[in-house]
Amino acid sequence: MALWRDNIGRMAGYTPGEQPKDRRYIKLNTNENPYPPSPKALAALAAVTGDRLRLYPDPTADSLRELTAERYGLPGRDWVLAGNGSDDLLTIAVRTFVEAGGALAHPEPSYSLYPVLAELQGARAVAVPLDAEFALPADAAAQAAGCSLFFLARPNAPTGTLFPRAAVEALCRDFPGVVLIDEAYGDFAPDNCLDFPARFPNVVVSRTFSKSYSLAGLRLGLAMASPVLIEQMLKVKDSYNVNYLTQLVGEAALADRSYLRRRTEEVCCTRDRTAAALAALGCTVCPSATNFLFVKPARTTAAAVFAGLRDNGILVRYFPKGRTGDYLRISVGTNSEMDALITTMQELMA
Ligand code: PMP
Repeated sequence: MALWRDNIGRMAGYTPGEQPKDRRYIKLNTNENPYPPSPKALAALAAVTGDRLRLYPDPTADSLRELTAERYGLPGRDWVLAGNGSDDLLTIAVRTFVEAGGALAHPEPSYSLYPVLAELQGARAVAVPLDAEFALPADAAAQAAGCSLFFLARPNAPTGTLFPRAAVEALCRDFPGVVLIDEAYGDFAPDNCLDFPARFPNVVVSRTFSKSYSLAGLRLGLAMASPVLIEQMLKVKDSYNVNYLTQLVGEAALADRSYLRRRTEEVCCTRDRTAAALAALGCTVCPSATNFLFVKPARTTAAAVFAGLRDNGILVRYFPKGRTGDYLRISVGTNSEMDALITTMQELMA
């Protein structure tokens, strides 16, 4: 008899994007932000004293929750839950809303962690295929019958595309379980669903500080939902799931709105310029509302371009299985990093 649970033995586990140590790469593989975090966030970090670290953090990060509610126009902090990155919030959601032996749904292709979280819970993952344009099918809720949680990344990853708000509204209305709208890339999109928690009692919206705030190493995510849902999720989280440094730095970053706006605009501008350049080289480029591009190379395979880029010191992400196998997911770096990418891709596709 094995010493571990059956489902753990059978599952493969999540594969995070590579954090290479063998050489210096132009790193465009994990959707990190190429710019530094807010100077105000770094100043908050520099002012930390050892004496404060001797003590436990606030278990529910109340001052961060308060600030979040204010920032997003929610009635109070009981509408907010903080997490150790948004992955932590996704795990908490599965443990709160999905029975062992139950099921959750997610579009396909989407964030590859969703089915892994189902396996960890001993639950089934129901993949709802997106259409040829990576749009959500009109009968998504019906396809998810029997599921108690629907993970919907908006904008979607790895496609970068934005499901229309009306399509998400229909899903939230028609799906009888909880819809978790994963807005990890929401700050790069022209609109969002932050108004949904107040309108739908079954909606959770999650956000991360890993992309737009340049704080992937800090690990901070926020979930917003009606207090009835947050109350249940609070029981499930680890006691001190968000450490003191993260709470402190996260608050300073959240308060620095002009810095976020400036950096996000910069990234979007580089993104659009890169998308146009790659399209001019003959690539198929999905319209992106994120800080990455989903690109089908011209005249050769995605696998060949992935390997060629790597040989040239440029790391992008490649998901070889299924429909994503024809594409590369390319994070938006600095302008000069993207120039190097465009030149190298042009050579590899010649
Ligand atoms: N959701 C989506 C769609 C993502 O792409 C990511 C990044 N891998 C996350 C959530 C998790 O981000 P983090 O845990 O760093 O907040």
